[in-house]
Amino acid sequence: MAKQLVRFASAGIPIQCEGGNLEAVEYSRRLGLGALELEFVRGVKMKEETARAIAASAERNDVLISSHAPYYVNCCTQEKEKVVSTIRHIFSSAQVTGWCGGTITVFHPGYYQKLGKEEAFQAAKKVLLMIKEKMDKEKVKCVLGAETVGKKSAFGGLDEVIRLHEELGFVWPVLDFAHLLARGDFPCKTEEEYRKLFDAVEKKIPGYGKNFHSHFSSIEYTEKGERNHLPISANVPPYKPLVKMLAENGIAGRVVCESPRLEYDALIMQEEYLKHV
Ligand SMILES: [Zn+2]
Repeated sequence: MAKQLVRFASAGIPIQCEGGNLEAVEYSRRLGLGALELEFVRGVKMKEETARAIAASAERNDVLISSHAPYYVNCCTQEKEKVVSTIRHIFSSAQVTGWCGGTITVFHPGYYQKLGKEEAFQAAKKVLLMIKEKMDKEKVKCVLGAETVGKKSAFGGLDEVIRLHEELGFVWPVLDFAHLLARGDFPCKTEEEYRKLFDAVEKKIPGYGKNFHSHFSSIEYTEKGERNHLPISANVPPYKPLVKMLAENGIAGRVVCESPRLEYDALIMQEEYLKHV
């Protein structure tokens, strides 16, 4: 069998795991998953000691760690207090992820509110530079993963997260396939479309396909964009053409399963992927 280049992860503690984040690392390995995304979405509360223990377990069990930063951030905000809290949340998430031995923390870039596209971009860039400055000062090494958002009112379309990387090398695009579909950024339905998506990103960011980071679930959406995450069996977008395309093109990286069935669906995706490597 060829080498498995894509690792699959549960978005947070697997449903069947009775412990916390620390136990979830070894549990993921026991299930056969080579990655885990820690959910700091309701605030970064993890102590350094726990994080260091997670790093040791992740190394021992060969599980790659990433995290999802708190939801309450908006890099485009014009409110001073919100700028401060956005910096604090994303910085803490990066710092703790680093302690966990993780390499990337994923964040939702923000909302346009009253800003135009360009103004929103410049606002986000400014805030991200401030976060990076703090990270450098505190010697935090963690990539900031800008997730493609699912709503039309949100800043973080595919073009915008690519541009963030182009202008800020420490930002790495995170492809949320369900969001790309729901927002109308990319069709994500057939193998061909998935291949075109990766080709398009690779063209702008050479090497992306050697280390991509992504989120997967099915989704319910309206003309405004996402409404709800669904189990992958809903097949919108479909996972089978994605994993086949990833396997057959030797693309390397991580798929974090954000369906309500977490590890169950991550394992189904992995099983399907392994049929094609
Ligand atoms: Zn997210």
